[in-house]
Amino acid sequence: MSYAGGRHFLQIPGPTNVPDSVLRAMSAQTIDHRGPEFAELGRAVLDGIKPVFGTQRPVVIYPASGTGAWEAALVNTLSPGDRVLCFETGHFATLWQEMATGLGLEVDFVPGDWRHGVNPEVVAERLVQDTGHTIKAVCVVHNETSTGVTSRVAEVRAAIDAAAHPALLLVDTISSLGSIDYRHDEWGVDVTVAGSQKGLMLPPGLSFNAISEKALNASRSARLPKSFWNWQPILAANERGFFPYTPATNLLYGLREALRLLDAEGLDAVFARHVRHAEATRAAVTGWGLEVLCADEREHSSSLTAIMVPEGHDADKIRAIILDRFDMSLGAGLGKLAGRVFRIGHLGSFNDLMLAGTLAGVQMGLTLAGVRIDPTGLNSALDRLQSL
Ligand code: PLP
Repeated sequence: MSYAGGRHFLQIPGPTNVPDSVLRAMSAQTIDHRGPEFAELGRAVLDGIKPVFGTQRPVVIYPASGTGAWEAALVNTLSPGDRVLCFETGHFATLWQEMATGLGLEVDFVPGDWRHGVNPEVVAERLVQDTGHTIKAVCVVHNETSTGVTSRVAEVRAAIDAAAHPALLLVDTISSLGSIDYRHDEWGVDVTVAGSQKGLMLPPGLSFNAISEKALNASRSARLPKSFWNWQPILAANERGFFPYTPATNLLYGLREALRLLDAEGLDAVFARHVRHAEATRAAVTGWGLEVLCADEREHSSSLTAIMVPEGHDADKIRAIILDRFDMSLGAGLGKLAGRVFRIGHLGSFNDLMLAGTLAGVQMGLTLAGVRIDPTGLNSALDRLQSL
């Protein structure tokens, strides 16, 4: 294999760059997962993760990718034939909806244009119409990683309350947790789904369910088949810092360190950093004369930006040029958006100069690909970065 000096720029919207101290923490020797040293680790991560979700209630940690935690949220709370309300906000919302259908749920899938988040007014409308309360859960992807659109979860909660509807609220925060302000308890979310490989700055391999009391009660009568994902034995073992199976010990070492880093920076500062980087990225995009995919400024994502490429250009070719010339990976357009957008991830362990380098690489790549852009776009981003 050939070698090129310097570091690869990993600017996909997850997996993200893993801090050196997290990598070092994970390289420690694996220990007995039934011994006292493990119990200390287990307790540290199970307690330490709660503030990141904004919860005081239990969080289940699975040795699985985010898709597993999606399934866990559904099978623990619902029964065959239950109706769920889902919204076509993008590729991941579509996949979650397909999973729900595959598991034997009846899905009301509200169509969308992949440029907007969940419309709280539509949530209210649908729930008010459901006078028999046959809808058992509302599923929302907080941050659509395929589009760079962040749904307004607090407003969705308010819509459910305004309709006085008892449906559970299940929220996917896979690309927002630890990057975008999120409040499981305050917003009355019943199950929050998350993954390790984005804002938590870890490699892929862990995923999470934060669980409200209402969701836990629902789990006692939910009849969808489950075994590995079943919360009950996990929560029972977690009380002593253990897991009912062999846990991903080394990822948990990494999680302990990542939680220390988030705490040291302070969650509010972490969120503000992401807001700033997203603003600087949008300043570059509009400065170039290009369009951000997200069509509602209340819903701009702070963890990634999806950029529409002008007619006649292929976003994948632009990404290929940037990878080849500047050793930078950008996110592809997914599903319906294949070839039409590329995505810049600016989440996780990331700073101003990394963003400046990223945007410089994008600007050069667009120019090399023959896209007509205004090269002052980069300066607009730098102005934004130096202003705070
Ligand atoms: N939901 C969202 C919003 C995602 O971004 C992803 C992955 O990127 C998933 C779900 C699926 O998670 P995983 O690929 O870890 O299974």
